[in-house]
Amino acid sequence: MSDSINNELQESEDHEILNDANMMTNEKWQAIIDNDASYNNQFFYAVKTTGIFCKPSCKSRVPKKENVRIFLNAEQALHANFRPCKRCKPTNERLPDSEWVALITEYIDKNFIEKLTLETLADIAHGSPYHLHRTFKKIKGITPVEYIQQVRVNAAKKDLIQTNKAIADISICVGMPNTPYFITLFKKKTGHTPAQYRQLRQMSKMEEL
Ligand SMILES: [Zn+2]
Repeated sequence: MSDSINNELQESEDHEILNDANMMTNEKWQAIIDNDASYNNQFFYAVKTTGIFCKPSCKSRVPKKENVRIFLNAEQALHANFRPCKRCKPTNERLPDSEWVALITEYIDKNFIEKLTLETLADIAHGSPYHLHRTFKKIKGITPVEYIQQVRVNAAKKDLIQTNKAIADISICVGMPNTPYFITLFKKKTGHTPAQYRQLRQMSKMEEL
């Protein structure tokens, strides 16, 4: 029993040694913090939470160390489904607007519970708020803020139908801790208050039965 555990440990250690070049080191981390261009092309770094990868010299916000993955070349990062940063262009090509916007919508879909502003999104997506607003609207037909609202209202609808949670709890769960604001926005988007919406849906469910 303990032998097999030892073997497993040994194997995982060997595995890490084989991938040594992909490991984070203090030197690489310092290069990322310093935006050190002399490390460009020696390695690339990707951020798991945003799905973006960069050159060491990128001027974007320093990520949390535990979310960073190191790659030796851009192909490896692309292969692991990371997208090139719009700011530092690690593949030396421009990221198409549609892909950039897809990345941002994915981020919103996963993180709508958090506080999201145009500024924080722009920071995460490595672009300016103005450019993000304009490009997002061009591709999606709505602004990033409208998209966030849409995702939150849809999540709230689901909670209203599928759970018995109080309206105030739902407003927190969908990233709008200000309940009066949540109710106002919900009504604006759906024509009903959250309580009315829940009641209507429950009534229509009864009729279906
Ligand atoms: Zn970058």
